[in-house]
Amino acid sequence: MERTGCVRNAMINILYELNSEYPQSLNPNKMDYVEFAEKCVVELNVLQAKFKNDFELTWYEDWYYDQATGLLTFSTDDKQLNFKFVSIGSYSEKSHTWKWSWDNTTTLDNVKEPTKLIRDFGQRSDFSKLTEGYFPSEEVEAWEFVAIAAKILNGIGVYRPVNDTGLKIFLVITEFVDNETAQTIKDRYIECQAHEKQRSAFVCNHLIGANKVGFNEAFDTVEDMELGEDDGFQAWCDQCEAKRQKEGEWNDNSQALVEIKLVCEKCYFEMKEINLGHR
Ligand SMILES: [Zn+2]
Ligand SMILES: [Zn+2]
Repeated sequence: MERTGCVRNAMINILYELNSEYPQSLNPNKMDYVEFAEKCVVELNVLQAKFKNDFELTWYEDWYYDQATGLLTFSTDDKQLNFKFVSIGSYSEKSHTWKWSWDNTTTLDNVKEPTKLIRDFGQRSDFSKLTEGYFPSEEVEAWEFVAIAAKILNGIGVYRPVNDTGLKIFLVITEFVDNETAQTIKDRYIECQAHEKQRSAFVCNHLIGANKVGFNEAFDTVEDMELGEDDGFQAWCDQCEAKRQKEGEWNDNSQALVEIKLVCEKCYFEMKEINLGHR
């Protein structure tokens, strides 16, 4: 078993040397955890002061963060400011515990994936607080964790909202997003009554609540697949497919004959399963 561990560590070392995203200034093998954490907290204080000042954050009255879009939005009336964020972990005041996001099944992948870099860094440095998913802690330590995360993930600032279950959520802000881009990202999602916030999908009205009416798609899809900027889930029934084939393609004429409905990604794949699967 020990041999495997050695091989694994060697692999991680090689990975880090190859990974250009990883800050080269960090020499994890030579560091003491307490010293490292303190250094990160000092750096975060400077970073955070600059972040608040650069974006005049105190001017904004409301904030909202959304795991689906990965956007943190500050607003006052109709004026808004958007950022991309990574959800680092959560601190519970009730149980005095810390939970890293990579260990949290309720945190969506798109906002927690980068936290694996912190865990890997912890493995390489032998910093057990970065490699255990969930353990007793204090809030001051949670700030150390987010400071370490900000350094590893090249954050521009941090934010710590409280979620609806009373947990303190620690976010590293990675990037400013202009309002137009933010709106484009937000428009790709829909609030579904059955599935909460999901990516948008488009289907012909015949597919809604129907069984075995066919399921024709713009391109082959699988659930949770990555979509390009201009791609979207689109499906229509056999009856609509016949109309499309009459015109030879989707154009203004054939589209005028079809009633398009907006649904969520989960609903879309339920329809796909019902119409093509074995239900
Ligand atoms: Zn149809
Ligand atoms: Zn749905």
